[in-house]
Amino acid sequence: MSRFRGGHDIVGARDCAAALVWHALSVIYFDANATSPLCAVAREAWLDAVDRYPGNPSSLHRVGARADAALERAREQLASRLECDPGLIVWTSGATESANLAFHHLARAATPGSEAWVAAIEHPCVLASAALHFPERIHQLAVLKTGSLDLARFEKSLHEKPPALVAVMAANNETGVLQPWGEVRSLCRDAKVPFLCDATQWIGRRSAAALGACDYLFGSAHKMGGPKGAGFLKIASTRGFQPMYVGGPQESGRRAGTENLPGILSMIATLEDREQRIAGQEWRPSLAAKTAFEESLLASFPGAEIVGRSADRLWNTSMAVMPALDGCRQRWVVKLDKLGFAASTGSACASGKEQTSHVLSSMGYEPQRAANALRFSVSWESPPEEWERLLRTLKEIQDGRA
Ligand code: PLP
Repeated sequence: MSRFRGGHDIVGARDCAAALVWHALSVIYFDANATSPLCAVAREAWLDAVDRYPGNPSSLHRVGARADAALERAREQLASRLECDPGLIVWTSGATESANLAFHHLARAATPGSEAWVAAIEHPCVLASAALHFPERIHQLAVLKTGSLDLARFEKSLHEKPPALVAVMAANNETGVLQPWGEVRSLCRDAKVPFLCDATQWIGRRSAAALGACDYLFGSAHKMGGPKGAGFLKIASTRGFQPMYVGGPQESGRRAGTENLPGILSMIATLEDREQRIAGQEWRPSLAAKTAFEESLLASFPGAEIVGRSADRLWNTSMAVMPALDGCRQRWVVKLDKLGFAASTGSACASGKEQTSHVLSSMGYEPQRAANALRFSVSWESPPEEWERLLRTLKEIQDGRA
């Protein structure tokens, strides 16, 4: 049988580009949280931008001015989705750069000796930026067994000794568990503490509305089906921002270097496509298929567990702690890969190093259990039926048939 997008017909030209890629790779892709394949809308917008806007947005001639106008329109579009002032958006190369840039500024704006409070489940780009800029002054915010921030504990400590900043992500990349960023933002506002939110996995999957009320906020194009190398940081104020890159007037002096205009226009076109799909609740079939997958998995695999099952999670993500494979040293993820399924053991950065996931350990999982965790994450273009095929293949592995 063909492995062409799981053997399903692709409806509509917009899915053709992605389908060709999958055909070439002959893979069923369950790793959209690591990176989502470039969607057709993103590809078209990127190619269109390359042809229409060859100029440098900083150039003074008309070719440059056209590029600059397109860049500013994109800024307005993003700001309108986030519900914030366009002047507060800084284009970057992605989420990691945005996190570094935010901490670079926040550390310089902070009272000497003050602490950075970061959720224990943050992505390494936040944890490492905090460690670099606030050495010995980091306090990790605890999460509950569900994978959600311990809000009560956070609120209590915020009143005792306010920090220089608080960083809590919108949705976790490993478990998909949604975090109470709205509540944290309000508490921080009352306490006059800057709030930084990593919305990389949220944007493009849930509505971006109101996210712009976070003091600092960032996202990345490639997690939602846009191109790699484009992202943004929303900052708190147009005044006094401390740049990390210097040597150019771009982004009002907040981030030197020629903007990646095709990447940015492609990212915004992708976001618009995703927001329309979200408004039309087009995620429903995918969520239903994932829920059925999780129920069957729990029924078929004694000892298996769905991480954060009782919490609100992203519709596209499921993390399962699987039973150990008998008499076999090979890990689930390797077996799956050989059978044509690309999944992950945790965040892309953590999985390369074979370390216990810091997310699972902060949720109280023992290293032996965490070692058998698999993360499955799909994109908007994934046919919902692929969840069923995944389950069948997991059963074949368990029964020793594969
Ligand atoms: N933040 C989260 C929650 C992520 O999942 C990732 C990527 O895995 C990043 C940040 C880093 O993103 P980028 O690849 O755009 O630097």
